[in-house]
Amino acid sequence: MNKVKPFIDHSPKKPAFLQLVFVDINGIPKGMEVPIERYEEAVTDGISFDGSSISGFQGIEDSDLIFKADPTTYVEVPWEGIAKVFGYIYKDNKPYHADPRRILRAVVEKLKEKGITAYIGPEPEFYLFEKNGSCELKLPDGGGYFDLVGLDKAREIKRVIARYMPAFKLIPEVLHHEVGPGQHEINFRFADALTAADNIVKFKYLVKAVAESYGLYATFMPKPLFGKPGNGMHLHISLWKDGENIFKGENDLSDEALYFIGGILKHARALTAITNPTINSYKRLVPGYEAPIYVSWGYKNRSTLIRVPAYTGNGARIEYRCPDPSANSYLAFAAVLMAGMDGIKHKIEPFAYVEENVYELGEKERDSLGIDLLPDTLEEALEELKKDKVIKETLGRAYHNFIEYKTREWEDYQKYLEKKGIDKKTTKVTEWELERYFYL
Ligand code: GLN
Ligand code: MG
Ligand code: MG
Ligand code: MG
Repeated sequence: MNKVKPFIDHSPKKPAFLQLVFVDINGIPKGMEVPIERYEEAVTDGISFDGSSISGFQGIEDSDLIFKADPTTYVEVPWEGIAKVFGYIYKDNKPYHADPRRILRAVVEKLKEKGITAYIGPEPEFYLFEKNGSCELKLPDGGGYFDLVGLDKAREIKRVIARYMPAFKLIPEVLHHEVGPGQHEINFRFADALTAADNIVKFKYLVKAVAESYGLYATFMPKPLFGKPGNGMHLHISLWKDGENIFKGENDLSDEALYFIGGILKHARALTAITNPTINSYKRLVPGYEAPIYVSWGYKNRSTLIRVPAYTGNGARIEYRCPDPSANSYLAFAAVLMAGMDGIKHKIEPFAYVEENVYELGEKERDSLGIDLLPDTLEEALEELKKDKVIKETLGRAYHNFIEYKTREWEDYQKYLEKKGIDKKTTKVTEWELERYFYL
């Protein structure tokens, strides 16, 4: 891999522009830049814009929206001479219903009424590819899980990313090569749900920007290569009250934690529509790559949908292994938290945990344990979502925007398959997916 230019800029510039960042229904960062002098105005009055061409937002006949900056999210990007700020969207002076950040904030506030704060530690994985001007992917290294020198050609890139993370208020914790060739993971410190969702947006931006400066493409698409591991975005989740982790029990997890697991299991099939929202997501959820395929849970078990890691005391948490980085982090966190809270509210006991490798269980054993399959396709997941009152309510009126957008995505893909004469059940990664998802 050839280095184009060093990313580290030793003469950081004062920000001249302010980037106003929000996400569309897909979680893709969108925004505009204004001269830094308009910061005050962006916080108080907001900056108006045309929302008609934002995926999942307004139609052209009624598309005037306003972005108001949330000053707690202000960060400076000295090497680009800009500052970035997240915010909320308004329409006719009222909160805009399809603003994903608003939807997550409403959930955060609901939890707060019960004195609860949710902390989330997401683990987005990504691949680095050599740029070659087409969707033909040339891998930059032949490394595998935890390879260090030699095979890990991206070790310097990961360190550069990690060195820039604090500027984005991201605290790097672990850098490592993942199982796939050219696949990587950089873990950063967990945070409250809203900050954690913002962090995903910043992290992807940073990884892509650094990769680009090395002449590479970083992709977070769930399954860029058939026959190789996919990119997951596991979520480590714990709930806190009065400075204490309420997931910790005497020896095991607390009742709240078990009910939370029960809630997620109950809603798992509908949740995939939000946590795995692309055609490509379902090509990751196949046996053999440490990605879940069954609605199941277990202790330290990496074949299950929910894993309870071996942490006790205030480190007690669950790991939800289904989500992938193509999810809109705001919508995904909102839906997962409400699914778990539904479990707490109705004291939903989780069915038995599994100790075996679930990929190896026979159908009979799975049935006797009550283990269901996760949806096979986006279409199936959307059908589940339509039946799930709790998750629908979490999205509010944005539910309709979501269903409409995603149904069209499914239909576009079907048309492509038909035109090309490709088997509708293919688990191969198609050109259509690479074109649609590779750069996002
Ligand atoms: N890449 C795997 C997934 O798709 C996870 C592998 C791991 O983190 N050990 O979820
Ligand atoms: Mg990890
Ligand atoms: Mg991993
Ligand atoms: Mg993990």
